[in-house]
Amino acid sequence: MYKKDFLIFKNNKDLVYLDNAATAQKPRVVIDAMNDFYTHNNANVHRGFYGLGEKADAFYEDARATFAGFINAKQGEIVFTKNTTEGLNLVAHAWGRSRCKEGDEVIVSLIEHHSNFLPWQLLAKEKKLTLRFWKPDRFGVLHVKDLESLITSRTKAICVTYVSNVLGCVVSVENIKESIGKKNIALIVDAAQAVPHIPVDVQRLQCDFLSFSLHKMYGPMGLGVLYIKENRLAEMKPFMVGGGMATSVGISGVKYLASSHVFEAGTPPVAEVVGGAEAVRYINHIGFDAIQKHEHGLVKEIFHRFEEYSFIRTLSSKENNIGVVAFDILGVHPHDAASLFAERGIALRAGHHCAMPLHTFLGIKASLRLSLGLYNDKKDIDRFFDAVRDIKRIFNL
Ligand code: PMP
Repeated sequence: MYKKDFLIFKNNKDLVYLDNAATAQKPRVVIDAMNDFYTHNNANVHRGFYGLGEKADAFYEDARATFAGFINAKQGEIVFTKNTTEGLNLVAHAWGRSRCKEGDEVIVSLIEHHSNFLPWQLLAKEKKLTLRFWKPDRFGVLHVKDLESLITSRTKAICVTYVSNVLGCVVSVENIKESIGKKNIALIVDAAQAVPHIPVDVQRLQCDFLSFSLHKMYGPMGLGVLYIKENRLAEMKPFMVGGGMATSVGISGVKYLASSHVFEAGTPPVAEVVGGAEAVRYINHIGFDAIQKHEHGLVKEIFHRFEEYSFIRTLSSKENNIGVVAFDILGVHPHDAASLFAERGIALRAGHHCAMPLHTFLGIKASLRLSLGLYNDKKDIDRFFDAVRDIKRIFNL
C-alpha cells in the first residue's frame, strides 16, 4: 500500500526488501525535501545574518521542534548527532566519564547492539568501573524483575535497548524507573529499532538519555538524535570541541554554551535534518496505529507459515514482536541461506547483527534475520516463502 511512496521499488522491480533493521528505504517526500533545501535554501546555520542563513536556521530549529514532539521532549533536550552510535558514545564520554569513578557500576543488558555495549566496556576499562550484565531469559527476553538484584549503591547507569535488533522484542523500559526508585541512576535507552515501529515517549519511559538514527525510520543516513533530559545537562562535559559551541574563546580559556547545543560542534548535516523532519511528518501522517496494525498482521502471518517447516527454528518470539524475526534453517549455514535468498531478489541479513554477546548467550554464532518496514506487503511474504521452499528442495530438508 505504501510502496508507491518509495522510488527504490519502482527502480528495483524485483526487490523484496526485508533488511529494514539495517536501514529503511526513503520515501520520495524525504528525498524531495533534501533536494529542495539544497536547490532553494542552502546556507550554514548559526552564522549567517543574511536571508538564506536565517532561512537555514529556521529550518534547522523547526526540525528540532519536530523531533522533540516526536518523542515528547523539550526542544532544548534534542541534540543532533551522526547516528545512534554517536549518541551513545557521546553519553559515555560526556556524561559517563565525568560522573563515574573507580568502583562504580554500570548495568548493561546482554541483548544490546554493540553500540550500547562497547562504549561502556571501553569506559569501564579506562575508569576501572564494574560492568554488571542484565541477562535475558533463554528466549532472549529481558525481565525488569531480574534487574533489581543487580542494582547496588554504586550503580550509576542502566543501559538498555528499547527493542532488540535481533529478536524484535520490546523491552518494558517504562517499568525500569520503578526499580531505580529515588536512586540517582541514569537510564540510557537505545531506541534505534523502536522509532520506526512504536511511539516513543521519553516522559513515559522516564529515561535520562535516548538515542536513535533517522536512517532506520525512513529518513536520511548521517543523522541521529540524542535526547538529554534537561537536568542531566549540568552533569556533562563537552565531547567534541570546535565551532558553534562556545560563547567566548581566549588564549587562556573558553566559556562553553550552557545549552545542549554545546554538543553540536561544527557544521551540522542541515539537509539531513530537513529530510529527517520530513520523515517524522511522513510517519505521523500514516500514524503508528496504522503502521502497527499492518506490521503485526505480517508478523502473525510469518510465524504462522514458519510452522509448516520443521527445519526452521525461530529465535524470536511472536509475542510482543515489532517485525524483526531471527531464525535458523537447520542444516544450512546462515550465510549460504542468505545467498540463496539474495539470488531470488530477497534482501535479508545473516550474521551476528552486531549483537555478539546475545548470540553467545543463545549459544549460536550467527542467525538469519528478516526485518519489516511499513511498505512490506503480503506479496513480499509470499516471495520469501517461495524461496524457503526452494531452499528446502535444494538441501533436501
Ligand atoms: N542500536 C540498535 C538496536 C541497532 O539496531 C543499530 C543499527 N543496527 C544501532 C544501535 C546502530 O545504529 P547506527 O549504525 O545508525 O549508529
